[in-house]
Amino acid sequence: MIPILDLSQQTAQLRPALDQALADLLTSGRFILGAHGEALEQAVAQTCQTRYGMGVASGTDALHLVLRACGIRPGDEVITASFSFIATAEAISYCGATPVFADIDPHTFNLDPESVARCITPRTRAILPVHLFGQAADLAPLLKLGQEHHLAIIEDCAQAIGTLYQGRAVGSWGLAGCLSFYPTKNLGCFGDGGMVVTSSLGIKSRVRQLRTHGQKTRYLHEEVGYTSRLDEVQAAVLRLKLPHLAQWNQQRAKIADFYNQVFADLPVVTPYCAPYSSHTYHQYTLRVGHRERVVELLRELGIGTMVYYPVPIHLQRAYRHLGYEAGSLPHTEQVAREVLSLPIFPELTQDQQEQVVQAVRKVLWQLPPDPEFRS
Ligand SMILES: *Cc1c(COP(=O)(O)O)cnc(C)c1O
Repeated sequence: MIPILDLSQQTAQLRPALDQALADLLTSGRFILGAHGEALEQAVAQTCQTRYGMGVASGTDALHLVLRACGIRPGDEVITASFSFIATAEAISYCGATPVFADIDPHTFNLDPESVARCITPRTRAILPVHLFGQAADLAPLLKLGQEHHLAIIEDCAQAIGTLYQGRAVGSWGLAGCLSFYPTKNLGCFGDGGMVVTSSLGIKSRVRQLRTHGQKTRYLHEEVGYTSRLDEVQAAVLRLKLPHLAQWNQQRAKIADFYNQVFADLPVVTPYCAPYSSHTYHQYTLRVGHRERVVELLRELGIGTMVYYPVPIHLQRAYRHLGYEAGSLPHTEQVAREVLSLPIFPELTQDQQEQVVQAVRKVLWQLPPDPEFRS
C-alpha cells in the first residue's frame, strides 16, 4: 500500500537530533514563549522575506488573529475562496464578519481576480487569497484591487511555505501571511502550530498582544485576547526541520515533474503551473472523470488518494445560512467534482512513484470516457 503521505521516514531521519533537542528542552523547563520560538520566528520570517514572524497555536489562529489585528468586525465582508480548507472561512466568521466567496480559475484552483472584483461591496474590508496546493494565487491584480478599494490583502499560505510569486516569497506580498505547521503540511510539527509573517510593525504588535490575553506588559491587559502561542516543543522541532524545507520542496517538485510527464497522454488534467508562481506541491492534484470509480480502482491496486476538497465551503452545512445555492460558483463546483490528489512527499521512492504511475495509467485507460468530463 502506498499512502498519500507517510511521515515516518522524515521523523526517523531526524530522530537523533530530535531526541537531543527535546531532552534539552525538558531540562530547561521553559515550554511557552522561549528561545526556540524566537529563533524560529526569525528563521521563518527570513524564509518568507518578511521582517517579523509571530508563532501562534495553529494556522487557523494565524488567520483569525491577523483578521482581528486588521480590525475586521461584525458587518464587514471578507472575500475569499470557497475551494479551500474550511479554516479559511472560519477565521472570518470568528471575527463576526461574513465570508464572501469568489469563484476560482479552474486551471490554477486559485481565486479568479475578475470574480473577486465582482464581489466587492461597500462592506468589503479585506481579500483573503489562498495559495492552494503550493501554488501562488495571482496576487498582482488582487493587490491592485486592494489599493483601489482600500482593502487589506491577507495571504493564506498554509499550503505554500517557500512558494515564490514573481520571484518573491508568498506571505511577503500582502499585509500579512498565515502559515500552518499542522503535521501534514510541507513544514509540519508534532501537533498544532502556526505563524503569522508580516513586515508591518502594527500587525506584529497586535498579533503578539492578541496571542497572550491581550497583554502588552505582564498582567496589564489592553484588550480581551486569546491563548494562542506556538509552544517550545513545536518550535524546537520546526527549527530542526526548517533547514531541510527547500530540499524537501525540490524533491516534491521533482516527483510532480515525473508524474506530469508520464500522465501527459492520459485523459486527465495535470496540474497547471502559472508562469508567475513556483510550485511547492503540497498536493499533486489531477482532474479526472469518473472520479469515485478511479479512487476505488486505485485503492484496489494499493494506491492511496485523497479528494481535497469534495464539498466547497459555500455548500457546506456550516455555511448554509449564507444562502449560496448549487451552481452559484460553477468553476469551484466543477473542480470539486473532478480533483484527485496522488501520493507526494519528499521520501517517496522512485519505485513507489513507478507503482503510482503504472496504477494510474492502468485505471485511466480501462475506464470509458466520462461524458461530464473534458480534459
Ligand atoms: C491547514 C490549513 C489551514 C489551517 O491550519 P491549521 O494549522 O490546521 O489550523 C488553513 N488554510 C488552509 C488552506 C490549510 O490548508
